Amino acid sequence: MERILCEVNNCSYWGDGNKCTADAIYVVSHTGDKAETSEETDCKTFKPEKH
Ligand code: SF4
Repeated sequence: MERILCEVNNCSYWGDGNKCTADAIYVVSHTGDKAETSEETDCKTFKPEKH
């Protein structure tokens, strides 16, 4: 997605310019279905790059 910027450059969806190339991403919370800080959230769509 052009508008999603991401620094996780070992994800297979990561592209140049820190752009996420997935059609959609799924963001999850570490603390149930709510979060207090951004640190408590994560991208579940992350897929490690194949080597
Ligand atoms: S899928 Fe998630 S971790 Fe992977 S590039 Fe996109 S936003 Fe980053």
